[in-house]
Order: sequence, then structure tokens, then C-alpha cells
Amino acid sequence: MSCASFAQSRFSAIEEIHRRTVRLVPAMTDGDNRLRKISDYFGESTFDAKVMRGKLSRGTFNKLQQTIRRGAKLDNDIAGEVAQAVKEWALEKGATHFCHWFQPQTGLTAEKHDAFLTIDNEGQAIERFSASQLIQAEPDASSFPSGGMRSTFEARGYTAWDPSSPIFIMEHPNGKTLCIPSVFISYHGHALDKKTPLLRSMEYLNKQALEILKMFGNATAERVYPTLGPEQEYFLIDRVFYTLRPDLVAAGRTLVGSRPPKGQELEDHYFGSIKARILAYMQEAEYELYRLGIPIKTRHNEVAPSQYECAPIFEEANVASDHNQLVMEVLRSVARRHNLALLLHEKPFAGVNGSGKHNNWSLMDSDGTNLLEPGKTPQQNLQFLVFLVATLKAVYKRSGLLRAAIATSGNDHRLGANEAPPAIISVFLGEQLTHILDAIEAGKDSSLPTEERVINLGVSKLPTVARDYTDRNRTSPFAFTGNKFEFRAVPSSSVISTPIAYLNAAMGEALSELKTSIEQKKSKGLPFDKAVLETVREAVISTKPIRFEGNNYAPEWTAEAEKRGLPNLKRVPEALAQMATPEAKAFFTKTGLYTAEEATSRYHVKLERYVKDCDIEVETMKNMVRTIVLPAAYDHQKALARSIQSAAAAAETCKISLDLGPQAKELEEFVKIIAGIKERLAKFEAEAGTAAKKESVEDRARALADKVLPAMASLREVCDQAEETAADGLWPLPKYREMLFLS
Ligand code: ADP
Ligand code: MG
Repeated sequence: MSCASFAQSRFSAIEEIHRRTVRLVPAMTDGDNRLRKISDYFGESTFDAKVMRGKLSRGTFNKLQQTIRRGAKLDNDIAGEVAQAVKEWALEKGATHFCHWFQPQTGLTAEKHDAFLTIDNEGQAIERFSASQLIQAEPDASSFPSGGMRSTFEARGYTAWDPSSPIFIMEHPNGKTLCIPSVFISYHGHALDKKTPLLRSMEYLNKQALEILKMFGNATAERVYPTLGPEQEYFLIDRVFYTLRPDLVAAGRTLVGSRPPKGQELEDHYFGSIKARILAYMQEAEYELYRLGIPIKTRHNEVAPSQYECAPIFEEANVASDHNQLVMEVLRSVARRHNLALLLHEKPFAGVNGSGKHNNWSLMDSDGTNLLEPGKTPQQNLQFLVFLVATLKAVYKRSGLLRAAIATSGNDHRLGANEAPPAIISVFLGEQLTHILDAIEAGKDSSLPTEERVINLGVSKLPTVARDYTDRNRTSPFAFTGNKFEFRAVPSSSVISTPIAYLNAAMGEALSELKTSIEQKKSKGLPFDKAVLETVREAVISTKPIRFEGNNYAPEWTAEAEKRGLPNLKRVPEALAQMATPEAKAFFTKTGLYTAEEATSRYHVKLERYVKDCDIEVETMKNMVRTIVLPAAYDHQKALARSIQSAAAAAETCKISLDLGPQAKELEEFVKIIAGIKERLAKFEAEAGTAAKKESVEDRARALADKVLPAMASLREVCDQAEETAADGLWPLPKYREMLFLS
């Protein structure tokens, strides 16, 4: 196929898109064609408390609720009855298969389906599901990334039911599968997944936070857990464009493509009215998510053209993490039904905003109190201050690890670019809290043993902070937003378990350090309030460098951060190196997040993943430039040359004189562009070749980050020049202006 006819598919695509209609979903309406209420179908595909109450004896129901709500150990005696109830419900719903559904280290979820099928003595098929099938499975795990863990210890991996996350049914056009949220561990109990470390971090944080609550005389809270509301950003483009872009298909982002004449500069997309076809898509996706019990609350257009966002009502962190996996899966599968392609990559299009996953995070106790909510009484505010400075300590002390937790090849293109938080981790508190901390630091409290004096200090103003969103700083990677923190640097495509696990563990560590300090001061005779305030004051002073209220996008911040000694880990290799330090290992083992072996293996899995991601981009780029960009450029060159030739021939025949100089010049210029592509392609391939020969993964990763990716970016520049110059009718790849604006 010549380029010209290949380019024809691009125009056919545009025609096809013009014919698209809005997809309707009959199941969302009732018999009278009225839209059903969300509460009519919310959670209908989950084994929730209502179903449990109906199917379990009261004793079993209570025990299971204890397990779910309080994280108590599952009582093996009830497992049989629970399995029976789960099976009954699943069969009623029409499920034929079940699976343990888990988060391996691939960044996706994994599932291996088993039929509820057994053959009895007479050869008849019967449906069966036992307690042990509910509780544990042994998938053939040898092909999951383990960073050498399984080859070191043994070959088997087990999945085990995590009752704290609801069982659900996944529907596909030809069948339904019961999904049992699970953790994935090795025979010796080493975590092979992303969920186990999250659960461990929650346990550690719970213990430390409860101790602080006890110090403050709280006798009722039984548990403290992190709450999480992840805002999910994404792009949607028409599916037919997607299929014509090998880079989007293989790498999730465009590797070539010139910027459109109109991008996001008019700022007309953010919160703009949602196009009918996109809104219909969102509504169907939400419908599916509601049925799965996922409380999606908001939807809107984001800053870049064709960029969108949805956010759920916050939930306990481990449930929120599972739910975010389902959000990504459902967004993807529903997109297909609407002839759309979902792009979760952090930077699918150069030059416009990338996507992130703002993780709204706080701590809640079992009485329902938000521990990062300023209180009504001075005593409550004192406690609030402890949790607030604990967060500052956590982020300051472990900023390198938090950066490592969000390090992916995709995020490297986003952090520090177009309206994304930079790679430097800092915390934004807002004017009023900063005021209060400044006052505490200035020692205005030094003679303030009583609660009244705390009020004098201005702490009583705190509740107004909660309602004041005026000084929100959108540029900060970690911002306080009234009663929670928003960790904004998290990549849009990633499992959130890891960054949140690191944050939880760092918070637990900080709380335990604060507790020790308070106790020491008390043992020296200070009254409790004074001991707390003094501890808070010390923490305010020691964590000062992590606080930044200014514009994180400004170049001066980079210089300022360096002066403050804050790490600026620009790319994945240096970010991940943070995980391999002895100090990091000590932190991992102390908090129980990872064992020493797990820490090493995670580091390797992540680094290898980076290398693989880059390799895929490298191969895709080579291939696209050789087989699509250059042939299209040759076609254009040929057209130019032929046009000059035929004009010259015509001039001769007609005996006229034509000035073909400017056209010859145009040809010459275009030939230079082709020469540039050839030259930079050769350099890029040479760098890629050198990188591939490096012995260690570390060296390969470094070479990719330092040499290969820059060479690829430079190659892209000339390819984009070719696109801007070549005849539109000859260009086979859908252009930015089409992908981003036609749907
Ligand atoms: P914005 O885009 O303005 O930051 P959104 O409404 O899109 O705000 O998202 C806010 C998110 O924060 C929601 O998911 C919300 O449920 C969540 N959130 C609110 N309170 C808490 C909390 N205490 N802990 C965790 N997340 C919370
Ligand atoms: Mg947002």
C-alpha cells in the first residue's frame, strides 16, 4: 500500500466519526422509559451487607462484619457457611465461574477463572464452591514479575481472600464471573502483590495512630484507617484514530505528532459542557460502576482537549484502591462500546496537560472522626496539630521514597511539565495554617500551659480553615485542602496501593516519633498539653524546608529547593535508587511494609519495568519512523520533485520561462528535513544499541534515561517538522488536531 492510500484510512476515519451516534443503554431505564434511580441498582453486583444479612445466620453475619469492619481475623468456622452463601448468590446472579482477583506487580489486576463445576459419581455436572476455594487459590504464578522472589524461595504463589474488600460479579457479553478480592503471597508469606504491603501499612499506621488517640484520652476509638478519594484523569479519543496510531496502541502515548494550531490555550475545555457522545459514555460507565458499588460522585472536562476526570466518594484506602482498579477497567471496557479509546497514560499528547490521579488522603477513626479535620475545642485542635505535623514529618523524612513510589516512565513525562507538579516533593498548607504554625514556631506559646492560651494563639481560628478553599495551590504535589491532603503527583495509570502504602507507613513512623517525644517531655515533668505543644513546635521547626506555599512550577523553586536540600529526582532511575539505600530498607522493615528481600525484589521489578516500558517505546519509534514517517516523507518529496519536473517540461513544450527557483528551494528544504530524520534516527538507534548492551539493569535504565530518550525526543522534532510540511493528503497518522478535537 503506498502512503497515499494508507493516508486514505485517516480520511475514512474522519468520515466514520462524523457518522457516529450516541449509544443508549436500555438497562438504565425502567419499563416506562424513565431513568432508574442510582439507589435502585447501586451495589447490585456486590456481595454486600444486605445480601449477607439475607443469606447468613445472624452469628455468622456478625462475625463476618467484624472481620470486614474491624479487620479481625476471619474465623475459619464460618468460612463454609459464607462460601455456601456466596455460591448461592453468584448462581442466582448467573455467574458460572469464580476467580481470585488480585494486584500483581504488573500494574494491572489478575484473575484466573474456575468454573463452579464438579462432576458427580454418575457423570452429572453440579455446581460446587467450597470454603477453601473461597479462602485460597494457587494460580500458576511463575509468569508474574517477582524480582527474583520466587526463584529464590520457591515456585508457588497463593492468593488469599481479603474480606475487607467486597466480593463482586464482573459481567461480560457472554457470561458472568464471581470475583474474590485477594492478596497474592508466596509459600513463605512474602508479598508478591501490591495489596499486601498496603494492608500492612494500614496495620502499622493504625497501631501508631491509636496510641496517639489514647494519649489524648480517647477511650472509644478501636481503629484508625486511612481514607482515600482518588480523582481519576483520563483522555478519550475515537477508537478508529487509536487503531491508526501504533504508538498509542503499543506505548499508550504519541511518540510523534505535531502540536495543533489550537491546544488548551483558550482554556475552554476545563469544566466546559460535556459533549453528548462523551456524556453518554460517562453515564454508562458510572452505571456499571454503581452496580459494582463504586460511589462515583463527580465528572467533568479537564484542562486539555479530550481530557476528563471522575472522582468517587472517599472510602477506606484498601477498598478505594481495589475500586480504582475497577474504575480504570470499566472506563476502558465501556469506552469500546462507544467506539472510544481510553488513554490512561500520564502524557499521551505532548504540549497539553498530562493526567494524574490526585489522591485525597486522610485518617479516620472507627467513631467516624476525621483526624485531619480541625476540631471545635482547643484539645481537639491540639490533637489535629499532632496529626498535621506528623504528615509534615512523614513527607519530609520520606520524600525520596514517596517520589520513588510514583516513579513510572509515563510520569517522567508529566512531572514538571505543563501544569503537573514537579518532581520535587513539598507540602502546601495554605495561608491560615502557615500563620498558626509560624506563631507556634515563634514560641508565642512558650508560656502557654493552658487551653485558653492555645486559643489565644489563634488555634481557635482553625475551623474556618476547613471551609476556606480560596488559597488552594494547584501547583503543589502534596497540598492540604481543609480536612485532608491531596497527593497530586500520583500517576494516572498506576495502582494507588503503593504510593498510599508508603505514605501510610511514613505517617505511622512520624506518629510514633511524636509520641516518644511527648512521653519524654512528660517524664521530665511537663504537663501533657505543654509537652504536646512543645513537640509540635519542634516538628514545625524541623520540617520547615518541606513547606512551600509558592508556585511550584516556577524555575526559582528548583533553585530554592536545592538550597533547602530537598531531593529533585527528575527521572525514574534516580527516584527508584531511593528504595535501595540502607536507610530505606531499615524503614521498610521497621514499618513492616516490606521484608528486606521484598524491598530488593520490588526495586528490581520497578526498574525492570522502566526498562521494558522504554524498550517498547524505542522499538515502536524505530518502526514508525522507518515504516510510516519516512515513506510518507518520500511520497511528499516525490510529489514536489515531480511537480517541478512536469512544470519544467511544460515550460519547454510551451516555450515559456517559469521561475521554478522557489519550488526547487522548497524541495531542497524538505530534503533537508528527510536528511535530518535519517541522521537523528541513526543516532537514536546507535544510542539504543549501546543501552541494550549494558550489563546491569541499573546501567540500562540510566542509559535509556540519559541518552536514548533524549535522542528519541530529538528525532521526534524533525518528524514533526515533516508532518507540518508534507501534504496533508499524504500523511497517514491521525493528527493531534483530529485526535484531540474530533469525537
Ligand atoms: P477537586 O478536584 O476540587 O480536588 P473533587 O471533588 O474532584 O475535588 O475530589 C475530592 C475528593 O476528595 C473526592 O474523592 C472526595 O471524596 C475526597 N475526600 C473528601 N474528604 C476526604 C477525606 N476525609 N479523606 C479522603 N478523601 C476525601
Ligand atoms: Mg481535580
